[in-house]
Formats: sequence, structure tokens, C-alpha cells
Amino acid sequence: MFLERFYENMRQNPQKIAVQQGEHTLSYQQLWQEACSLAAFLQEEGRSPVLVYGHKHPRMIISLLACLLCGRPWVPCDHSLPIGRMAEIARLCKAELLLLPEEAPQPLSLQKVKTMTWEDIPNSLTWTPPAYHKVTVAYIMFTSGTTGQPKGIPISIGNVENFAAWLLSHQELAAPAQRVVVNQANLSFDLSVADWCAALLSGGTLLLTTKEEQFQLGRFFQQVRQHQGALLVCTPTFLRLCLCDRSFCAQSLPSLQAVFLCGEPLSVPTAAQMKQRFPSLSLFNAYGPTEATCAVCGLLIQPQHLSQQQLPVGDLSHAAVTITLKDGEIYLDGDSVFKGYVGQPPLQGPYPSGDLGFIENGLLYCSGRRDSQIKYLGYRIDLEEIRQVLEKLPGIQQAVVTAQRDANGTVRRLAAYITPSLDGEVLRLQLREKLPSYMVPSLFLPMEQLPLSSNTKAITR
Ligand code: AMP
Repeated sequence: MFLERFYENMRQNPQKIAVQQGEHTLSYQQLWQEACSLAAFLQEEGRSPVLVYGHKHPRMIISLLACLLCGRPWVPCDHSLPIGRMAEIARLCKAELLLLPEEAPQPLSLQKVKTMTWEDIPNSLTWTPPAYHKVTVAYIMFTSGTTGQPKGIPISIGNVENFAAWLLSHQELAAPAQRVVVNQANLSFDLSVADWCAALLSGGTLLLTTKEEQFQLGRFFQQVRQHQGALLVCTPTFLRLCLCDRSFCAQSLPSLQAVFLCGEPLSVPTAAQMKQRFPSLSLFNAYGPTEATCAVCGLLIQPQHLSQQQLPVGDLSHAAVTITLKDGEIYLDGDSVFKGYVGQPPLQGPYPSGDLGFIENGLLYCSGRRDSQIKYLGYRIDLEEIRQVLEKLPGIQQAVVTAQRDANGTVRRLAAYITPSLDGEVLRLQLREKLPSYMVPSLFLPMEQLPLSSNTKAITR
């Protein structure tokens, strides 16, 4: 369904822009042709996952489509990943090929992995369709894991198709998706699956925005205005940031019709402020982990929800998978759910999400985690992974990593308590070689200062 629908969109409107990033554009026809030619090359090269190290260049999307076409898993790695983590990812998924679709911020070579720039790829090959199954892995995304290593989550073509069908069954999202979908998340995060699925399956344009543009909101808004962004896919953290700027309103961005949010709690004040700034906009709050392909349920936030303490995260009568509660934990089962982590035994039975929740009037609500996983600035982090990496550094005997929250429960910073006491600046530099910068604690304190609590969860969450 994914490739067939993309192909149909391409046939109907070959000159329409499929992907836009700054001045770079790719029409549906160009995207299809370049993907077929890359797929032909990848098909001859082998079967292993293809690491793609880039940021928001449209070639990232060519490589995605090429991987889908030839049945090799796409492993997007954002430029923000340190080389140490790239090496771990390559080792864990046994990758043999690394593509560089755009200039890398740092020279990169990985052991036992062949590196190729775009110029190295022959472009005159013709692709022949391989045997293609729903169980073929479409992509592997890596998230923070409790084992001290990143965790690889393989998502099949069938998983993506089930998610996409659910997403586009919501008219309020499907209609603006036919115009321009504005991306925010890095392509190595599963929130971005919503933006490329929505745009490419609806025959719309995917507007990729870079981190630089997002840091200067004026530039970001200018992109949305200039290209008539109709559906924005972003984290609640990013939405809060946008709301800090008064020009984020319907008058200045009249093309914006819907926002799809997922990945973290959306607070009532943020939703209320959005309704005030964009009175007729559809605000869609969705919930789901990477393991179940971006989002498994969601709903349009209505005025009556704004008088509640907490917003619902999904309408269970219209979910992408079967959602049940066992001892207060949310379990997921169905066609969007993955089959097991890379290098680990397959999943048996429904997937335990680790999220605590409750159901009221057919709506799902999230009420926290049962483990040490947190969301910080929209990123999924397992505090246990940081602790384990810290304890492997020379000189460190013991470490505890905590998330410090504000009165609303939002994580404001990460603090590491260590023995013996060592220079924080040196530790920070060492950690940056292994962890993305958002996982590096901003505070290093001696263990004696660890706040005492009768409840360990209060310390680690
Ligand atoms: P990720 O795998 O990065 O998409 O993160 C998934 C986790 O984000 C979930 O297991 C939840 O803990 C959290 N999450 C996702 N959506 C929501 C939401 N709408 N409200 C609260 N937490 C959410």
C-alpha cells in the first residue's frame, strides 16, 4: 500500500513538489526516479541495514524510499549523534554500508562499514522489484535503553502501513496533509514517521525544517508562511516554544489548519493557548511509543477537554491497535506493534509500554512511567543508560542520574550524583563522545548530596 500509493500520487501529479527543504526541492517524479536508481544500487550491494547519516536534506527521503523499494532496513542517524553512538548502532544492527547524503559535520568512518557519499553512487541502474513482504523491515530506529546501549527497534512495512491507514482515517489530518506537511522532528525519531507518511501518501508536500531554522523561530515561521504549511507535526515542547513568540497565531500563519502532537504530555494551558491563537485549528493529541510505530491512538482536543485537569491522549473506539490496561500499565497489541528489539528474543504477547494509564469514558489518559524512562526537551531518555555509561568512565565508582522537574512535572535538567567527586567539565566532554548532547547531565554533584527519599522512583524520575 505505501509504495503503491506513493507511485499512484507520482503518476497523477509528477511535477508536484514531494519534498522541500530551504531551496532544495524534489518533485514526485524526481523522488521516484532517484529512489529507483539508488534502490538498484543498494539491491546489488547486499541485504544488511543501510545507515544514513544526515539531517534534513531531501536525499534523506530518497534513501528512505530506496530502502523501502529494495527491502533493506533504513537506519536514519541524525547529524547530532556522536560518532561513538553511530559505531554502537552500526555494530548492533550489523550494518555494512553508510550513506552520506549531505556534508557531514565531522569526518566519519566506522569499522567494517563501507562509507559512500552521494557522488559515489552510480545513477544509471534500473531497479527491478524484489520479493516484498509486509514483514520486511522498513526502518530501524534507535532509542535510549536500560542496558547502557541504544536499543534498536525494527518496524516492518506492515507496521508502517497500519499506522498510516489509521493516521489518514482522520479527515482533519488527511485534508491538510494533501497540501503541505511541516516537519520538526529529526528523521531518526519516530515522530517524523507521521510527517513523511502523511505527506507522501496524500500526494502533499513534505516541508523539512532544519534545527537552525527551528532555533530562530522567525525563520521557521517564514518557511511555514512561504510554503503554506497546513499540517504541523511536532512535540509539545516545540509547540510551547512557538507559543513564546506572539507572531505564532492564525493572523500571521493563515495556512496552518492542524497540528499533530505526540511524544510527551500536552498540558491544558498549552492546548488552551493554542485554541486562543488559532481558534479554528484542529489540535490532535496522539500517544504511542516507537515500538508501536509513532502513535497508536489520539483525538482532537475539544473545548470541553480544556476544563479538565489533564488531557486525554486517545479515543479507544478508534485506535490503531488493541489497547488494554493490566495493573495500571498500558499494553499494546496489533498490526502497528514491532516484533522485538534488535539482537533480542522476539516479543511474546502484547507489548508492555511501561506507561501507566487509566481509561475514562472510552478515552485513554497517561499518568506516568513505571521505570526510569523520561522525556526531556521532547527526547526519550532512559536515565539508567546514562548511569551505565557514566560508570564505565575512568575513575567513577558509582553514579545515580536524576531528572529535576519544575512544579508542572516538566523535566528541566539532568543531574548526575557521583563518587568520587570529579571535574564535571571533563566528564561532560567524555560523555559527549558517547551520548547525544541532550543526554549529557548539566550538573555533576557528589553522591553525598543525593536527595534522600523513601521512594526511589521520586529520585530517578
Ligand atoms: P517515543 O518512543 O520517543 O515516541 O516515546 C514514547 C513515550 O512517550 C511513551 O511511551 C510515553 O511515555 C510518551 N508519550 C507519547 N505520547 C504521549 C502523550 N500524548 N502524552 C504523554 N506521554 C506520551
